This record gives sequence, C-alpha cells and structure tokens, in this order.
Amino acid sequence: MANKDRSEAEEQERLDYIFQHNYNRIEQAAKRLERKGGQFSMKISAEKGESVQSEYTVPDEDATMEFALALARFALPDTSYTIDHWLKFLRELAGEKHSLEFDKIEKTLQQIREGNTLLTLNQEKITDAKAYEIMARQVVFANDTDAIAYEQELLKHGDIIRQFMWMKYDSYCLGLWQLLQWVHDYRKKHGIRAAHVNRETICIYCKATQGDFDHVEHTIPESLGNEYGFLPRGYVCGDCMAALNSIEDGINDMLPFSLALITTSIGNKKGKLPSLKSPEIHIQKKSPNKLVFKSFGKKGELREEPVQGGGHKISITVSGRFDVHRIARMLSKAALGTIALVKGRDAVLDAKFDDIRRYIIKGGTFPNKLMIFKEGLPSPRMEAEWYEVEGVPVVKLIVLGFIFIVILGERPKFDPRDELKPHIMMYDLSLEKPEAAVEKMDGTNQT
Ligand SMILES: [Zn+2]
Repeated sequence: MANKDRSEAEEQERLDYIFQHNYNRIEQAAKRLERKGGQFSMKISAEKGESVQSEYTVPDEDATMEFALALARFALPDTSYTIDHWLKFLRELAGEKHSLEFDKIEKTLQQIREGNTLLTLNQEKITDAKAYEIMARQVVFANDTDAIAYEQELLKHGDIIRQFMWMKYDSYCLGLWQLLQWVHDYRKKHGIRAAHVNRETICIYCKATQGDFDHVEHTIPESLGNEYGFLPRGYVCGDCMAALNSIEDGINDMLPFSLALITTSIGNKKGKLPSLKSPEIHIQKKSPNKLVFKSFGKKGELREEPVQGGGHKISITVSGRFDVHRIARMLSKAALGTIALVKGRDAVLDAKFDDIRRYIIKGGTFPNKLMIFKEGLPSPRMEAEWYEVEGVPVVKLIVLGFIFIVILGERPKFDPRDELKPHIMMYDLSLEKPEAAVEKMDGTNQT
C-alpha cells in the first residue's frame, strides 16, 4: 500500500472511532434523560387582563444539561467535529450509491436548524441553530458573570423571550439527536464503517504479538479528559489493557486531577459531569460554569476572593490520597504511548525501554524520579513533549494544566536548577513509598 493511502486509511479508521465514541456518549446521556421521565414543554397562559404568563419546563435540569453538553461536540460551530464534518465524512465513506439518503439527511438538518417557532430579537430572525449558538456561547460555556449578565439582558425583552431561547436551544439539541440516531442506524444497517487497517499486532507495553488487539488505547487516560489522543488497534494487547485499566481506574478521583476536572470537564465518556468528594467537601459540577459546594466543618476550607473584572476566585484546600507510583506509571505509559504515536511503534520497541515497560505493567519501583510542578492552572490542556539525553526521553506531560516530568530510563538523573527547586516536588520512584520533599501544592494538600 502506498504511504499516502495508508495514512488516509488510518485517518478514516481514527475518525470512525471518534464518531462512534461521541455518539455513544450522547446515547448514554439521552438514556439517563429518558429515565427521568417528563418532557420539554412550554405553557403559556393568559390571566384576566393583558398579562401573559409562560413557563418552560424540562424533564430534569441536570440530566438535560448533561445531554446538551454531550451533544455540544456535534452542535457547536467552529469546533473540529461538528455535525457537518461528520456528514461529509460519512457520505464519502458510504460512497455514491448512498448519496440520495445523505441528501435527505442534509435537507432535514437544514429544517432542524430553522426550527418550528418564530422568534425575532433585535430585528434579527433567530433560528433554532442561532438560538443554540447564542445560548451556548453567551450562557452555557461563558463564565458565570457573563452568563448571568446575558440572561439579564434577555429578561429586558421579557421572561417569555428568555424561555423561548432556552426552548429553541433544547429543541435544536433534540432535533440533532434524532438526526444522529437516523444517521447511526443507517450506517449500522448498511455497514458504513471505515475498514480496519491491517497492521501488525505488537504490544508496545509487553511486546506480545498474540492475543486480543481489537481496541484502541488512550495515551493519557480518557477519564482525565484526553478524548482524541489514542493508539490505534494493534498497539496494545488485551492483557496489558486490563493491567492499564486497573492503574487508571479511579485516577480521575485523585488529586490534583479531581480538582482540575471539576473546573475543566464537560462530561466523561458517559456524558456525566464530574464531582469531587473528600472528607471535608463535596463539589458537584452542574454546568460548565456552575458548581455546588457542600463543606463539612472547619476542615473544609472554602474561600471566595473577588477577582478583578468581576467574578470570584475560589481557593479550596482539600486532602486526599496521592498514589505516587500509580500516577508515575500512568504518566510513563502515556509518555511511551505518545512517542509511539509520534515517532512510530518501532521507536519504542527498543530494549532500552524494557525497564520502564516492566514498571508500567508490573509495578514495583523504578530507578528514577517523578517531578511535579507545584503550581498548575487547571485547563483542558493535554500535551506531551520530550527531549532525549543519550537516547533516553525526558518527557514533559501537561495533564489538565498540571506539569509533570518523567524519564523513561535510569539515566539521566534529575538535577533541577536551584531556582527551580521551590517550584517543584520530586518523588523518588526507587523507594517503595516515595514522599515529596515539599508538603503543599497549590489548591491541594497531600497526605
Ligand atoms: Zn501487552
């Protein structure tokens, strides 16, 4: 196969997986919404005289929010994987003989965008798609101060207008969900799937060539918000996948990730919004800009500080388990996986990585250190970059805005410059129970 065809086939396989994955997320959120019963309804009543009352209700506020956020991956314009992007991709994948069906689907999408109710705001006709975009940008994904301000602005036109906007927002989500189900069912019925790329099966974590290789593996765990960085089928065996799952299971509940997810995540792979439970405080995320706090006694410290330009900066001190080896193994696994993705699999099959492979899969200790920068600004940022010292990668991973450094070999040893020392914590992984040289970390407090 020519190189170009090869990479095109790989890209198709990758996109096919992403579409399906994003679809499954909404499906789960939609099922939870359905189980809540109730319906979306707008009631308008006129009392004696001229005043008109309106009431817009949704089945369940939280379930509706999670459903709409799962759908945002398809609905938000100007993101990489909008519904238009997917229809184009699937149309090409399906080929000429399905083009009539895709014409119908696209025509229906236009109707969904228009919507069934008329609304004019500031002399502008607001279609459902427009209402969706406005409410998503100005309220749902805006910061809380801007969100409140925009809803107040809408109220000037009357509460009924505000409710209409939400109704159109939801109606666009529901319409799009119906369309997606149609697309999904049609694709299933006619087997419109990207072909599996026929690649060698060699596990990058144990070098096995036999076993179950029919799955992708995320480099940085998906539960930490890495949606699109994953190794294709054929790179990780079933046994290693199981071992890695047990390292990564629940890591999203561990500090500092749990705290960062509270601010950055808009839903896990089931479309659920994150929550944080520590002995001192419970935090539940309600929407991209709403958190509910419950604190317990004096230990749970919650401070609100006004920040310039409005809004509040909240600093929280919570304590929790911090399993250094688990985190170091998870990061080393992500580092090795990323190198395999970028440089190709052969690059990581070299014997010089056998030690780190053993540490990742079997655990125990590793003769080097893990470095963590104490200050992180929670953000959805995910990155891995590295430089090599005598062939050994020193890898900097940015996970949810926190910076970690792992070295995939025994040498070089960490030797941070003096001016860096106050900003980092070092954990000696050659010890069974590594302890940080420093106690406190911004926003968190390890025990
Ligand atoms: Zn393996």
